[in-house]
Amino acid sequence: MSELRDELFYKQKHVHDLLDEAGLAASDAYCQKYMDFLQKAKTERLAVAEAVRLAEEHGFTAYDAPRPLKAGDKIYRAVRGKMLLLAVVGRSSMAAGANICAAHIDSPRLDLKQVPLYEQNELAYFKTHYYGGIRKYQWVTIPLELHGVVALKDGKTVAVNIGADPADPILYVSDLLPHLAAKQSEQPLAKAIPGEKLNIILGSLPVKDDKGADRVKLNVMKILHDKYGITEEDFLSAEIEAVPAFPVREAGLDRSLIAGYGHDDRVCAFAELQGIYETEDPEKTAVCILADKEEIGSVGVTGMISQAFECFMGDICDGQGVKLAHCFANSFCVSADVTNAFDPTWPEVSELRNNSKLNYGVAIAKFTGRGGKSGSNDASAEVMGKIRRIFSENGVTWQYAELGKVDEGGGGTVACYMGNRNIETVDAGVPVLSMHAPYEIVAKHDCYMTYKAMKAVYASK
Ligand code: MN
Ligand code: MN
Repeated sequence: MSELRDELFYKQKHVHDLLDEAGLAASDAYCQKYMDFLQKAKTERLAVAEAVRLAEEHGFTAYDAPRPLKAGDKIYRAVRGKMLLLAVVGRSSMAAGANICAAHIDSPRLDLKQVPLYEQNELAYFKTHYYGGIRKYQWVTIPLELHGVVALKDGKTVAVNIGADPADPILYVSDLLPHLAAKQSEQPLAKAIPGEKLNIILGSLPVKDDKGADRVKLNVMKILHDKYGITEEDFLSAEIEAVPAFPVREAGLDRSLIAGYGHDDRVCAFAELQGIYETEDPEKTAVCILADKEEIGSVGVTGMISQAFECFMGDICDGQGVKLAHCFANSFCVSADVTNAFDPTWPEVSELRNNSKLNYGVAIAKFTGRGGKSGSNDASAEVMGKIRRIFSENGVTWQYAELGKVDEGGGGTVACYMGNRNIETVDAGVPVLSMHAPYEIVAKHDCYMTYKAMKAVYASK
């Protein structure tokens, strides 16, 4: 009866058992490229810069304004330095629709407040306002680095970068010592570290031979002024992010895993990028979206709700005399975002028949959301059938993903905003352990299968 079982039962397969020697080597080679990207792409702005650099290496050219295009052309448009749209023009008209993969490149972090600098008891600090869903207790007592821009009144911008270079100092948020934490330890985790205590230590030395107030703050401001030419008021027009200063590393004795900050969602963003870099002469136009602001609701001019996407797609459609709405109606989109990998140490939050697992390949989710699927896109059965077919025909190992038990919690992606545009959309991405933590874990084989998956979607008919 085992043949009957093989024929009739749904069985998921471990990627490692399926890959031959060449496949294993390809998986590892791909992941080395991804690790290099992730190390450089610690913020949305840095991700755009590195993606554009690689795109130009692969023959993509800027498409900042409409111009004539022909099949096979490779173009990109960076939106305000924080969102990136790329396309390879297809042989068929935009009226036939585009094949779109959409990921996000913003990750949870600590943003500096707009009036951040102060001195308290002879230590200088930055006040922060966390961005996205963080577990605040995870962000104390870890090395942090700063990235961002300061926009000056004269229209110039200054790039800030402190801590990424091993020769730089790192920054730090303190926590109580256990000896004095008896009261804090009785607090629920969510309350033990209030947001207003996520203050970044900047220095402890005063300006010498000065009798005025805030001598340590003055010393820090002088260091910043010497390095960047900025004054305290300039922070009002700055976007500076404190992110974990951990290096991207192989993890596990068998080196099968990757530890890094911001796998959510740069692991899918890079899979999309590598896929479109290698896309030549597709049947339908292939489109890669790297969106900003997903972690706070896809808002703003660089988020997936923004008309920046319509503007880019509309320019390509106009060049072919095609109505954008007709292109959207025939398009297909994979919302490429991470999901929770089943964690054997915390099995109680997952329902294993439907939860994704490390090493079982790219994880397809019909719906995300919370409670009764609220906030999800809920792909149709037909779309699920289509994605199964595309992956199966292209040697992509995939699994199913539901983010935890029904009543346990939930999460969303950009999928619903693509659905709003009348674009058939389904979620698929890489399973992650400790999602949104300063240091997250993914399995190399899942990264590789997600890259193969994105490439197959771009090439699909
Ligand atoms: Mn995400
Ligand atoms: Mn997220």
